[in-house]
Amino acid sequence: MADKSLKKDQVKNLLNKIAQSNQLIAPILSDGITLFKPVQSGEGVVLDYQNAVVPPKDFFFPQSEKMFSYDMSDPSWAIKPEEGVPNRVLFGARPCDVKSILLLDKVFDAEFRDDFYIDKRNKTTIVAISCNDCRHTCFCGAFGISPGKAEGADLLLTDLGDRYLVEVLTDKGETLAANCSDLFSNDDGSGAAAKEKATAPALEKQMKIDLEGVKAKLDNMFDHPMWAAESLRCIGCGTCTFVCPTCHCFDIVDFNNQSSVGYRYRCADSCQFANFTRAAGGHQPRPSKMERTRQRFMHKLRYFVDRYGDFGCVGCGRCLEKCPVNLDIAQIINKVKEVG
Ligand code: SF4
Ligand code: SF4
Repeated sequence: MADKSLKKDQVKNLLNKIAQSNQLIAPILSDGITLFKPVQSGEGVVLDYQNAVVPPKDFFFPQSEKMFSYDMSDPSWAIKPEEGVPNRVLFGARPCDVKSILLLDKVFDAEFRDDFYIDKRNKTTIVAISCNDCRHTCFCGAFGISPGKAEGADLLLTDLGDRYLVEVLTDKGETLAANCSDLFSNDDGSGAAAKEKATAPALEKQMKIDLEGVKAKLDNMFDHPMWAAESLRCIGCGTCTFVCPTCHCFDIVDFNNQSSVGYRYRCADSCQFANFTRAAGGHQPRPSKMERTRQRFMHKLRYFVDRYGDFGCVGCGRCLEKCPVNLDIAQIINKVKEVG
């Protein structure tokens, strides 16, 4: 489908129309911070944000998710599955967060198929929005991500001042665009050049991090003293993993509140917590902060590449910005490069 154009004053109408037949998930301002939330209409949706404090990962891999329930008073002990999600539109995701969903696909929808994730993924249409500006901590370009491209999105909007350029990238995007065709006009052919100009500042402003040779160096750095030195200041709060769009580890717990009815949940977990790897019997394969810090960076920059052929980081910069002791993956990459 050819590129479309959407006037700024039609955005709210577009969101209202989408919300009539889908669950609409969009960025809103809540207590001064930008968060993705389900909304009933376009009222209050903000699209000129730089990056949401937490990624929209929660709508595919919730921090806490009920998997099923059971009733032990029922002689059949039948497992009652949870209902799936309705058809949804995730509106306004930035290119780095869209790429992170493609990385989660490699984990949850490949060798091992995770029905909970796949249901949400299949029922979600992703409308991405290009970045015209970025935060001082952004470095998506290091991972081949561009502020003006969003591989994995179904539609891509780019703010061109008085209008948005609308690129239709997939069949899902085409269906959504067709359903809202009365709100779009055809792009007059100037959109592509205007988009390049509009997104250039984000590309220019972001940190330039060079990953050349980093994976090869890390292949020989398991016992390097750098991990002990870097881990000293970590306080094990787990913030870095909580805000990361690609972290996907979880634990499974049963809860029954002393009644016959029980629930099974899966809850996001963090490799930065001391109990993360503690096994029954008390064995702890990662007993100190050194092993846990090493694990986080090795997983993002070495093991994920070995397993899935891509880095497990998208350069969103959230962990840099939120870590209370400034343990910074961009600095780690630069330090690895300096190792002789
Ligand atoms: S490791 Fe940090 S910079 Fe990389 S994707 Fe996760 S939060 Fe973003
Ligand atoms: S946010 Fe910083 S201090 Fe907290 S666990 Fe992560 S690296 Fe450690």
